[in-house]
Amino acid sequence: MRTPIMAGNWKLNKTRAEAEVLAREVVEATRDVTDVDIVLCPVYTALEAVRGALTGSRVRLGAQDVYWEQAGAFTGEVSPHLLRDAGCDFVIVGHSERRQFFGETNETANRKVKAVLAEGLTPILCVGETLSEREAGTTAKVVRAHVVNGLAGLTSRDLSRVVVAYEPVWAIGTGKTATPQQAQEVHALIRGLLAEMADAQTAAGMRIQYGGSVKPDNIRELMAQPDIDGALVGGASLKAADFAAIVKYR
Ligand code: PEP
Repeated sequence: MRTPIMAGNWKLNKTRAEAEVLAREVVEATRDVTDVDIVLCPVYTALEAVRGALTGSRVRLGAQDVYWEQAGAFTGEVSPHLLRDAGCDFVIVGHSERRQFFGETNETANRKVKAVLAEGLTPILCVGETLSEREAGTTAKVVRAHVVNGLAGLTSRDLSRVVVAYEPVWAIGTGKTATPQQAQEVHALIRGLLAEMADAQTAAGMRIQYGGSVKPDNIRELMAQPDIDGALVGGASLKAADFAAIVKYR
């Protein structure tokens, strides 16, 4: 059985003080939840404040990006080692906004995934097609390239530690959600690819999140799909009550 995993991607929002308040509210609102893994991913500057707010709770800390080198002349970058030092357990890699605005490629995402795993942290690798790719009928091809290249060179053991997030770009921050059937179709495709890359048993144990305008009122139907194991949540994770309702989808 796969433990569902709900992660909040706060993107470029919240001062340290605001982030601490939100984290405390999430901890409070999800205190009784023991059967879902919960992750909060604030901006780098708020990691310390959120870490403090999460102490003693089941809610884990994550970062929104990382660089693959551990140290050196890489101005502006943050390494997996420093993220672990800051209390992170998870790192989002290859988010579509990184791909769209900051030149992230499957190759750079792959280097990041490997560096994150080497540090003992869990990467959440984001994959997903744009609207024009979907309309051109290339969803499967694009998602295959994201998964196969983003996770290239990993052993089955490495793969078993990875979380994949299927995030159709056209559904992120747009209010448009993939239908549960559309999402399930791609999740099943991803699990099939993971089985080819690792083995069926490893793939069956791996968690694949859905992301794209997830809200309290659509999470239940999404989670009812056999290959959807959680959600990567942007906008709705900025309100503790909404994020808690998503966590408590059952
Ligand atoms: C995201 O940032 O990964 C995301 C899915 O955002 P939203 O929930 O706002 O669509």
